[in-house]
Amino acid sequence: MKTRSLLALVLFAFGPAAFTGRTDPPPRTDYPTEAVPFTQVRIDDAFWSPRIEANRLVSVPYLLKASAENGQLLEVEPTYKTIEGAAYTLMLHPDARLEADLDVLIDKIIARLIPRNPAATWTETSWDRDLYPAGHFIEAAIAHYQATGKKKMLDAALTIADRLVTVYGPAKRHRVPNHEEIEIALVRLFRLTGQDKYLELAKFFIDERGQDSHPKLGENAQDHIPVVEQSEAVGHCVMAVYLYAAMTDMAALTNDAATRNALARIWDDAVSGKTYVTGGIGAIRFHERFGARYELPNQSGWAETCAAYGNALWNHRLFLLTRDGRYADLMERILYNGFLVGVSLKGDRFFYQNPLKSFGHYERFAWINVPCCPPNVVRLLATLGSYIYARSGNDLYINLFVASRADVNLDTTRVSLVQETRYPWEGAVRVTVNPERPGPFTVNVRIPGWTRGQVMPGGLYRFLGQDNGKVRLTVNGQGIAAEEEKGFIGIKRDWKRGDVIELQLPMPVRRIVARDEVRENAGRAALSRGPIVYCAEWPDNAGTALNLVLPDEANLAAEFRRDLLGGIGIVTGEVAALKRGPNAGPLESEPRRLVAIPYYAWANRGRGEMAVWLPRRPDGARVSPIPLPEPVIRLSSFGALEKRQTGYNDQSDDIGAIHDGVEPLGSADESSLYFRMKPPAGQPAWVEYEFKSPTVISSSEVYWVDDRRFCRLPAAWKILVDDGGSWKPVVIHGAYGVEKDRFNRVTFDPVKARAVRIEVEPQEIPYQAGRGGPPDAMPIKEDVVWREFGIIEWRVR
Ligand SMILES: [Zn+2]
Repeated sequence: MKTRSLLALVLFAFGPAAFTGRTDPPPRTDYPTEAVPFTQVRIDDAFWSPRIEANRLVSVPYLLKASAENGQLLEVEPTYKTIEGAAYTLMLHPDARLEADLDVLIDKIIARLIPRNPAATWTETSWDRDLYPAGHFIEAAIAHYQATGKKKMLDAALTIADRLVTVYGPAKRHRVPNHEEIEIALVRLFRLTGQDKYLELAKFFIDERGQDSHPKLGENAQDHIPVVEQSEAVGHCVMAVYLYAAMTDMAALTNDAATRNALARIWDDAVSGKTYVTGGIGAIRFHERFGARYELPNQSGWAETCAAYGNALWNHRLFLLTRDGRYADLMERILYNGFLVGVSLKGDRFFYQNPLKSFGHYERFAWINVPCCPPNVVRLLATLGSYIYARSGNDLYINLFVASRADVNLDTTRVSLVQETRYPWEGAVRVTVNPERPGPFTVNVRIPGWTRGQVMPGGLYRFLGQDNGKVRLTVNGQGIAAEEEKGFIGIKRDWKRGDVIELQLPMPVRRIVARDEVRENAGRAALSRGPIVYCAEWPDNAGTALNLVLPDEANLAAEFRRDLLGGIGIVTGEVAALKRGPNAGPLESEPRRLVAIPYYAWANRGRGEMAVWLPRRPDGARVSPIPLPEPVIRLSSFGALEKRQTGYNDQSDDIGAIHDGVEPLGSADESSLYFRMKPPAGQPAWVEYEFKSPTVISSSEVYWVDDRRFCRLPAAWKILVDDGGSWKPVVIHGAYGVEKDRFNRVTFDPVKARAVRIEVEPQEIPYQAGRGGPPDAMPIKEDVVWREFGIIEWRVR
């Protein structure tokens, strides 16, 4: 996303404004509950501390270095987010060198943003695009100011925000940002300065979405109907959750029931049909968006790290608004699974999309050309302390079980808390409550939904069996009479220094199954223990994972392995593994000791198979195909989609897939590997097999991809052979078929060939501007014709 134009112009034209501090009265309403800020929480936790340290000592310098060395990155949002995350680490760990590095980087950014000729680079429409990075610039500036007291970045941010206030609004320019974010930033700026104009502009951007007063960006940008009328989680997932988080801010700040109701409906829709068991969202790679209800492919599943980040933030805000533990439940699930998987244990490799199954084609990247996700990991891990505790009046909330010390201001006293635990590996939590003055207040302890047999709210998943175990909660060894309400047990009593709360959460290994409508998970179970979702990965299971069968009767056990992946809980059990019999005979089954690791920890040991959802019966297992006699496979030099070089391309895309002998389930089968091409108009696109020696062939069978979206059945195709001199068409019997969900077989006069080619003319699919189109352009700016085809399998005999 290009940012130069907007930031450049305002800095050039207006110069920095003075920050005048809080001038107006605070809002009349706000969240009824406040997070205890991470600056008042010291985490000392066996699970999280190593990750937070890797974040501070590896990820932050790693990303800052990349930003400083790459001139282009000075103008894009990932750098601003990195500055923001780095600033948070400074708040807990003053670091003169890091602060100096930030100064240099910020000076460079501001200097570079002043263009030589602003008029040439700026048009009013470019502002709409630039609102997204501008939002991140503002957030970074606030964090940098709060961390260091330095105003240079904040002054620039205020200048930008003030300019936006003069341009956009009810009687001014009617547009919405084409990627939400600035709404969150403007609310933060309002909180910092107390100036209503920033809140009003945030509200304008939210309310304007879906109105007829501007050219609509469509459902992909949640711009199809006004937000208060929306009931479904739709469109680009990161954009969606940033919008929903901002709407939650607005519901709190304006006490608006319509917004609140819309959020409740959207959340229900997301959680009951569109959320992975890991808490990940955004099932569909095209537009990185929500799928239809129950459309949750495991292998092609997108579940972008940024979306997990935004979803955690949104659910945290919903908890603060409602004090309902189910939001904290989901937040916990996201943090331990769908979010944490986004970064390697060392902190220097990152996932963009987070699939739940891998054939072994996918791993974390060191760098990609849209590095939006890594700095979101940095921002969240640096501020993890903010998600653990909350307060409201004389109520204190313990949301997450993380060994830590916290200082919490209640209405009548200040309380220091000491939480000790080995969660998530063990269910024992001990909290020492030390009020400055003894007296009555309430400590609300979250009782996770999974202890009550609820995987996630909404009924998308359920546990197999009833083995919930029993929660025990005591104060100074005495049982508590209070009932659980909205996911919390509130302990109201006269507290004095040294009182001890002890919570024991039962942690049996559980099997999870999905609703029948989730086609991909039919006949499969996932494993969990406490908040952790497990997966089978190749290094622990004799090199494969997709061939494992987990029968319902298999006993499962948990153990802690200090030596593995930095110290993790594993799940073990006697399962079956399928393998090929001798001489291509039927599949055979042999006993195997399953070792399942936490999903967040996979892909730290190289590429290979991984599966979260394991088949309960042998027919769901996949055995690697017998390697076929290998021809040399070639393709036309243009039109091939870039593969794996950028890190976020689809892991299912593999030229070798067309010859792997796997029987597809259908043309839209997202559990298979396939190969796609996007040739330019007027260019023949082809794939070729070159034989080791001239071979007589007389038939071809091809299975086309048709994903119902962009990659479609071809318009036409034909077979050519190289008989030793030139490429010639074969003499076919019948016609070239273009049917989906089956092999299209054609026979031809036998011919001795050195090589055979399949030459394809793709369908041309027109997409209208503003309607959302091909995957690499968000709502598209001009009409395009999309030409893409794909092959799942191609056999020649
Ligand atoms: Zn991202």
